Parts: sequence; C-alpha cells; structure tokens
Amino acid sequence: MILVTGGAGFIGANFVLDWLALQDEPVVNLDVLTYAGNLENLASVWNDPRHLFVKGSIADHDLVEELLRFHRPRAILNFAAESHVDRSIYGPEEFIQTNIVGTFRLLEATRGFLAAQNEAFRAGFRFLHVSTDEVYGSLAPTEAAFSEQRKYEPNSPYSASKAASDHLVRAYHHTYGLPVLTTNCSNNYGPYHFPEKLIPLVIHNALSGKQIPIYGDGMQVRDWLFVKDHCSAIRRVLENGKVGETYNVGGRNELTNLSVVNTLCEILDELRPLPDAASYQSQIAFVRDRPGHDRRYAIDADKIERDLDWRPSETFETGIRKTVQWYLANEAWVKNVTSGSYRQWIDRQYR
Ligand code: NAD
Repeated sequence: MILVTGGAGFIGANFVLDWLALQDEPVVNLDVLTYAGNLENLASVWNDPRHLFVKGSIADHDLVEELLRFHRPRAILNFAAESHVDRSIYGPEEFIQTNIVGTFRLLEATRGFLAAQNEAFRAGFRFLHVSTDEVYGSLAPTEAAFSEQRKYEPNSPYSASKAASDHLVRAYHHTYGLPVLTTNCSNNYGPYHFPEKLIPLVIHNALSGKQIPIYGDGMQVRDWLFVKDHCSAIRRVLENGKVGETYNVGGRNELTNLSVVNTLCEILDELRPLPDAASYQSQIAFVRDRPGHDRRYAIDADKIERDLDWRPSETFETGIRKTVQWYLANEAWVKNVTSGSYRQWIDRQYR
C-alpha cells in the first residue's frame, strides 16, 4: 500500500493510473479537490478495489495520522500542491498554506507515525516529495543546466513555496532521520493537464477559435518532459533512490515557448485542418509578459540517468503528438473542465 497525495491533479492522477496499470499494490489517494483536482481523471479506477480515494487535506494532521495508522502504507508520495505560477502571483496565500504548511503537517504526521513503528518497517518506509526545477531560479542562455548542486534561487511565490517545502523535507531527514527522497522535475505535459497551463491552453484556444496568448516575446526556454516519463522516474526513485538524496528529472528538451506553440499549431493543422488550409498560427497573439518571468530553465538529468538507469521513453516530438491526439480524443473532458461541470461530476461520484 502506498499513500499518494494530490492524486486527482494532473501528475498525481497520471501516476495513480500508471501505478495501478503496472502492479497490484493498492493506493490510498488523498486529495482535497481544489479547482485543479478532478475526479474525472480517475474515472477508470473509480470502482477498482485497489484505489481508495479520500477527500481531505495534507494540512489536516489528524486525518493524515489516522490514514497512516489505519493503512500503514510503505511510502508517501507527495504531489499535493498549488501549482500555477500565475495564480501564485495574484494570490500567494494558498501557496504558503498548502505547499509550506501542508507539507510541514504531512511531515509531522509521518514523523509521529514512524516513531510508533518497528525498525524493520521504518527501514523500508519512504517519503517521496515531488518538486520542481523552478526552485533553482532562472538560467542565463549559456549557463550549464541545473544539477542537484545548484543553489536555490526561487523567483515566484510558487517556486519559493516549493523551495521552502523542499528544505523542510531535507530538514526532517537530517534532524529526525525521516527516510526522504526529493525529485525536482522540469515542465510536464500530457493527458489530464488543466487547461490553464501553456500546452493544453494552446490546444483548447486553437480549437475554440480563440487567441493563443504568448507571454512577452515567447523566447522563454523550458525543458519539457512527457508526464508518463515523470511518473516512471518517480517510481524508479521510490524503489532505487538513495534515502536523503534529491534527483533532478528532465527530458533534455530545451525549447522556447514560441517553438512549442508553433509545433502545436503545426500538429493541429495536420490532425484537425482548418478550412482553406489556414493555420492555427494566425491565432497567436503576443501579450504582456508575466511579472518576474524566469527566462530559462534546464535540467541536468545525469544523476538519475547514471545512478538509477532512468531514461525518458518519449522524445518531445513523439510525446507532444500523443498529447495533441489525447486532447482531440477527449474533447468532452476539456469541455467539462473549462465549463466547470466536472464539479457536478465530483458531486455525483464522491460521497
Ligand atoms: P495540479 O495543480 O494539477 O494538482 C495538484 C493536486 O493537489 C490537485 O488535485 C489538488 O486538488 C491537490 N491539492 C491541493 N492542495 C491540497 C491539499 N492541501 N491537500 C491535498 N490535496 C491538495 O498539479 P500538478 O501539475 O499535477 O503537480 C503535482 C506536483 O508536481 C506539484 O507538487 C508540483 O509542484 C510538482 N511539479 C509539477 C510540474 C508540472 O509541470 N506540472 C513539474 C514539476 C513538478
């Protein structure tokens, strides 16, 4: 049994679906269902007896402690977070509460639970914290990619709150001996991505005939990783990672936002052609840049590749095509999310 937090969100849901497809071990899925949590992502495992969904917060110490004592999971995988940089700029409070206070409470409940367990159980237990490359700040164009030794220089309230949570996780290892692992991953893309983020937003706006907004000059560089590859990296770190270590995870796909948008338009032009052979690129509109927008992130994934023999299975070209195909085949999912009607789906499913 493992405990996943935030398993109704984008990466967490992909992780739960892949986990249950690959092995028999059950999952307790703790998610408070913010706007980003969508039980429709979990529809295919909703009646699976190996999946137990619990609506609740990582910040609820008593609930977490009760879940730990009752289910005795061998690992906690902490995906739960407020995750959208733009939202953190306009409303940082939630980011502090969830990402910092929430992680702290989860760590505290885990510490209390482990103290009551025997040595053998403690030795096998893992607390895996899922984090981001944004904690490292912004890179100059010619600077080397972020390694695990890079100092933290978070620039947005989101990345600062994730950095704080990473430090707490580290401190609980050094101070209390909690068996932790941390992963810092680059930008993910793939199925079930909430359409406020760049790639699903572009696909959604293109298909709806709306403007495709690009911040500033569109020359911000990000490293992109297909979400299923992030999930495989997390599984690898969980099983083979060295306690107390951090692992950077990335796809070695450094691309400007503009080139990502152009690629999406080209794939859509091919798979869902517009009348008169027009291109979706005509919908691109450059808009005022995000305040404090980091210019470049790049991940040096040497450590996880070398020490844990992990490699992504998708290139950006194959992964992005699969992603567009998924959105085209799941327009009802997008429609429900953008119309907010997934909330009704949650009300129907969740009791
Ligand atoms: P998401 O916003 O899609 O999902 C977050 C999930 O956490 C939602 O289901 C939400 O309901 C849940 N949640 C929020 N507050 C909670 C709380 N207090 N208790 C329980 N559940 C709560 O985010 P995501 O993109 O899936 O990211 C998951 C994790 O991966 C985050 O920690 C994020 O920082 C990290 N990460 C994301 C990316 C990316 O590109 N999306 C890259 C690297 C790391």
